[in-house]
Amino acid sequence: MAVRSIKITPTHARRAALFLLTAAAFGQDFDLLLKGGHVIDPKNGISAARDVGIKDGKIAEVAAGIAANRALKTVDVSAFYVTPGLIDIHTHLYAGTGTAYTGPSSVRPDDHSFRSGVTTMVDCGSSGWRNFPDFKERIIDGARTRVLAFLNIVGSGMAGTPEQNIYDMDVKSAAAMATSHKDIIVGFKSAHYMGPEWISVEHAVEAGTMANMPVIVDFGKFRPERPFEDLVTKKLRPGDIYTHQYLVSVPMLDEKGKVRPYLFEARKRGVIFDVGHGGGSFLFRLAVPAMKQGFGPDSISTDLHITSMNGAMKDMLNVMSKFLNMGMPLDETILKSTWNPAKEIKHEELGNLSVGAPADVAVLRVEKGNFGFVDVSGARLRGNQKLVAELTVRAGKVVWDLNGITREDWDKLGNYGAQGDTRWDATVAGEMRVRPK
Ligand SMILES: [Zn+2]
Repeated sequence: MAVRSIKITPTHARRAALFLLTAAAFGQDFDLLLKGGHVIDPKNGISAARDVGIKDGKIAEVAAGIAANRALKTVDVSAFYVTPGLIDIHTHLYAGTGTAYTGPSSVRPDDHSFRSGVTTMVDCGSSGWRNFPDFKERIIDGARTRVLAFLNIVGSGMAGTPEQNIYDMDVKSAAAMATSHKDIIVGFKSAHYMGPEWISVEHAVEAGTMANMPVIVDFGKFRPERPFEDLVTKKLRPGDIYTHQYLVSVPMLDEKGKVRPYLFEARKRGVIFDVGHGGGSFLFRLAVPAMKQGFGPDSISTDLHITSMNGAMKDMLNVMSKFLNMGMPLDETILKSTWNPAKEIKHEELGNLSVGAPADVAVLRVEKGNFGFVDVSGARLRGNQKLVAELTVRAGKVVWDLNGITREDWDKLGNYGAQGDTRWDATVAGEMRVRPK
């Protein structure tokens, strides 16, 4: 580059100072420091003001009073809560060229995840052993969201009129596919089965036993030949999950409005109850009395798909906000959206902010005001608090920044080029970084 004589202006001085700061940043302890937030990390029993230092995509330090000059980039998050990236264990992400939930009824993960603080989504049985490789290649491998999957016990997953073909419920093939992709596949799904037999549940459980993985069940049509009570007290193993906890078909409340005792027995056995809100599976008239009697969920999940996303469900934070406004404390709401689901899917490296864990982080604001929350029958619960995702960090990089809290004001930057640094920032498009002078 040709050396030119330049007149030093305040802008140049600022740029020079910026250059020195950047130069000094090499070899620093952290790429990104989230400073001053209230950290909620249920696994580690932390609910207090802490700074979170991130280096090379991992949590490097969590402590009070970490010096800002130890980081390449420091962000003031003192008005917010800092939590592990949210984990949504019930989603439908096999969007593309197939039919039903292997096509137009599913959504793309990155379209919905980061804007609601979610860094891990688990597809819940959209694919089975026949089409999982296609799902992996077309969706999972290209997503910035961490996408995991429950494999449908039906080989073709949720294609067409799904999940009724008992001859396609192949235990060995399902277990083999799961075992050969055990970094992605977390268990098996039995869903929407209409018939009178237990075969769908039983085959999913057999595959789960064979692959040493949990099973998640949508019970389909509730029939007297296979009572729900038997599902949760006899058929499911400890660690298996029933999703759609507040579905109207679940025999939950007796005539006097009391939660039926078998549900507590099932929970004592170790059966997990998950929200799975969806387009048809969440009623306040069940959830509110059940919560008051101690029958809240073990995990909060959305059942995200094209008909739940614009209906009562909306997104992960909206579902979590419902529980907040039903009286669940914030720390517990975070536990049920981070550490509990991580344990349920046996990915205990996720859902926490331990040193060395993947730096998947949500920075959340609790907005106060007058809000309304709707259930799947269209009834409203009024509330005064709502969770909003200010910042989402995935593998150490900012992937969502609602109000630009990581950015500088444009009118103080002169003739600016691409901002940020690829060591902490994934929100400025790559082509902006090669803008011609
Ligand atoms: Zn579902």
